[in-house]
Amino acid sequence: MSFDVAAIREQFPILKREIDGKPLVYLDNAATTQKPQCVIDALVDYYTTCNSNVHRGAHRLADEATRRFENARDIVKVFLNAPKREEVIWTSGTTESINIVANGLGQLLSPGDEVITTGMDHHANLVTWQQACKASGAILKTVPVTDDGELDQAAYDALLNDKTKFVAFPHVSNALGTVNPVKAMTAKAKQVGAWVLVDGAQGAAHGWADVQDIGCDFYVFSGHKLYGPMGVGILWGRESVLESWPVWRTGGEMIATVTLQESTWNVLPYRFEAGTPNVGDAIALGEAIRWFSALDHDAVIAHEEALLDHATALAKDFDGLTIIGNAKEKIGVLSFVLDQGHPADIGFLLDRQGIAVRTGDHCAQPLMARFNVPGTARASFAIYNTIEEVDALFVALRKVRSMLA
Ligand code: PLP
Repeated sequence: MSFDVAAIREQFPILKREIDGKPLVYLDNAATTQKPQCVIDALVDYYTTCNSNVHRGAHRLADEATRRFENARDIVKVFLNAPKREEVIWTSGTTESINIVANGLGQLLSPGDEVITTGMDHHANLVTWQQACKASGAILKTVPVTDDGELDQAAYDALLNDKTKFVAFPHVSNALGTVNPVKAMTAKAKQVGAWVLVDGAQGAAHGWADVQDIGCDFYVFSGHKLYGPMGVGILWGRESVLESWPVWRTGGEMIATVTLQESTWNVLPYRFEAGTPNVGDAIALGEAIRWFSALDHDAVIAHEEALLDHATALAKDFDGLTIIGNAKEKIGVLSFVLDQGHPADIGFLLDRQGIAVRTGDHCAQPLMARFNVPGTARASFAIYNTIEEVDALFVALRKVRSMLA
């Protein structure tokens, strides 16, 4: 199999859009990716042909919806190389998945226990653990970030000890593109007996989410960053850990029996899926993963690397531009500042030229403080981006620079 970017682009209707008469150059993929037609079709087809509530109906539509919904869970299981389908829990996205873990594990933390996060975590994976530590009396420790935008592994080693109960880190930094050595970091945490959560919001989109290979206890991601719909995501957790937790939300579906005074809980995964799930989006996420998994993975990664290499080379030659984050292992993200102009102005002036990037702190304020910048402009690449689009970004940036001079 080879990688034909033109054929891939054909499958994304939104890429034909123009912005003020200029072709859309969509470089905001770390925020959310666009959706191929097959994913849009899967969603429309669900609502057109078999919309129904799942699991509880005694009729054809309910059967069909349940079959498609549970089939999507199987697709996720294979994608994650999860040992069991019962460990795959539908959530609304990464943020909710992390909150479920923090609620479950947070109740098992005691005063003096230690929790480790990192200086490059998204607020979803930092603030949640700040709150869990406040509530339990556990102590929050942070792995510092080096000048190159990598996690300081020596400092990480020094933080781990027999009080460490839980470690969480991003697979790939959304703000810098750093690819963290998640397998090695997980192995070290396991040596001190800690639970490990990998925030895969950015990692899953590159197809690297093999939970058995990583060895973690939890892997979380959002559908919308993986060519799937918004409002649906995944919490994968080890069965033995999930079963030991108190329940999260209560209501229909998560119960086994209910009397007026007492209730007992359903088995996994339903125990953590209270209420009507987001059936249509789950089915469409299954389709996104089926579509993505059918691509030649090595060719996808090679294409993404070529885009970043090209962008980095142009950025290094660009007067007054500083790249934030120069990790050796990096993918998909070019974060930068210009010596003139606030990132927000850069984003605004690029948009006038049809180029969509993200500007600001990228939900990583401590990381911005670490690099002493108010924020960055971030171009983030996906499989449908082209070398020509990277060139267009830099042509537009040159105009931005002359406007800001
Ligand atoms: N973690 C990382 C690394 C992210 O990039 C994001 C979103 O940008 C999140 C967590 C939160 O994802 P969501 O807003 O889809 O819940």
